[in-house]
Amino acid sequence: MKIAICASEVVPFAKTGGLADVAGALPLALEKEGESVIVIMPRYKAIQDSKFDIKRFSDDISYSVIGKNIKVYFIESDNYFNRDQLYGDKNGDYKDNLDRFSYYCKRALDLLKEIEFKPDIIHVHDWQACLVPVYLKNVFRKDAFYKNIKTVLTIHNIGYQGLFAKDEYSRLGLDWSLFNIEGLEFYDKINILKGGLIFSDIINTVSPTYSKEIQTKEFGFGLEGVLNKKKASVFGILNGLDYSIWNPVTDKFIAKNFSVNSIGGKAKNKEDLQAICKLPKKKDIPLLGIVSRLAEQKGFDILAEAIDNICRLDLQLVILGTGDLKYHAIMEAMVKKYPKVISLHLKFDDTLAHKIYAGSDIFLMPSKYEPCGLGQLISLKYGTIPLVFKTGGLADTVNKNNGFVFDKYSREELLITVEKSITTFQDKKKWNALVTKAMKCDFSWEESAKEYLKLYAKAKTK
Ligand code: ADP
Repeated sequence: MKIAICASEVVPFAKTGGLADVAGALPLALEKEGESVIVIMPRYKAIQDSKFDIKRFSDDISYSVIGKNIKVYFIESDNYFNRDQLYGDKNGDYKDNLDRFSYYCKRALDLLKEIEFKPDIIHVHDWQACLVPVYLKNVFRKDAFYKNIKTVLTIHNIGYQGLFAKDEYSRLGLDWSLFNIEGLEFYDKINILKGGLIFSDIINTVSPTYSKEIQTKEFGFGLEGVLNKKKASVFGILNGLDYSIWNPVTDKFIAKNFSVNSIGGKAKNKEDLQAICKLPKKKDIPLLGIVSRLAEQKGFDILAEAIDNICRLDLQLVILGTGDLKYHAIMEAMVKKYPKVISLHLKFDDTLAHKIYAGSDIFLMPSKYEPCGLGQLISLKYGTIPLVFKTGGLADTVNKNNGFVFDKYSREELLITVEKSITTFQDKKKWNALVTKAMKCDFSWEESAKEYLKLYAKAKTK
């Protein structure tokens, strides 16, 4: 099968979150299954010739190769993509995001013909790529080259929909007949994700539980009705993890490599992390790690309420992430109050992330909702026990055999569960058994890639 993957961020070239991990790993897994795959993404400023092996295809298209022979095509535009950030800066989202990503989607479709790659499936990810199915079905279909190409849309987080003011609609070059309740209109605004849902042949999200949750009012962010209508075409496939990147046996960023047979190796990583974080070198109290966007979705509302009590427990806490300035301030205040307990890193730092996964004992991820979540999968691999709220992909991957789960979303339950995890940590025999079980969990991409192939086959029959 020939597959073109369209995503706005792809590891190793650009990343703000889990989407990039998936868009970087899925093509590799599909290639291993014998499929022919290309990837198309914007070329941001950080994707420099000096950092990657990049070749030129045409005036505005360059490419690099991943895996054995997967071409990742970069769409260049000085005007739209040659910027420091992907989606916005400290002032919020870039004002021209509609123009930027509609340009990307159109250019991606044009490119297929230029490179004479007629895919069976275009697999688009999140709202930034959602105009691909919209343009394909409503504009490009007139050209025979685009006949019979099917589309699969993966929703990584339905909370991000690409909402724009109605008066921007004319810039999309789409007929106004599509701006209605059966099309891209959403409460008098443009909703790009909704367009993707309507015009894709198959929709999926990144865990079975989340695929059901988004069809409810509580989790659907207003799109539950559209999803319900297409119910028969909505699926859930758990993300895999790229174990060539996330593996304590081979990880080059961590102080000491270790495996399930040498879990003692974690101690050196804990020491290293404590040193970096200027925390007291203590072996006997648990070190809790967080690598996350500082957002309500990630549980920071209940965490902010419980943090003072948590810091009074016998533990240490390292937080890496950026996000809502409100939570930056709350955590900064905690650092002032409990400098020997909490260490805060308000930045994006891949190296430190690896060190936190390896050096912590417990990984705190109390997300309010979680489409799949990669943090818990990574932490399991590193024998760092996840502590999660039972929702979405967290419910599908963490249970009492490999972690700590609470099922009522409140600061009290969070605090109780943290206390419980500390008690368990003190029982070394129990703890080591838990670490061993966690490290044995397997969320490799192989299985997920096979599931995606079934989905593509289904799309082809549409
Ligand atoms: P999201 O909803 O943000 O995509 P996921 O758990 O699916 O959450 O994926 C987050 C990914 O981004 C993980 O690989 C995590 O390690 C990484 N990450 C998040 N914040 C940071 C940060 N501040 N520095 C480095 N990596 C980060």
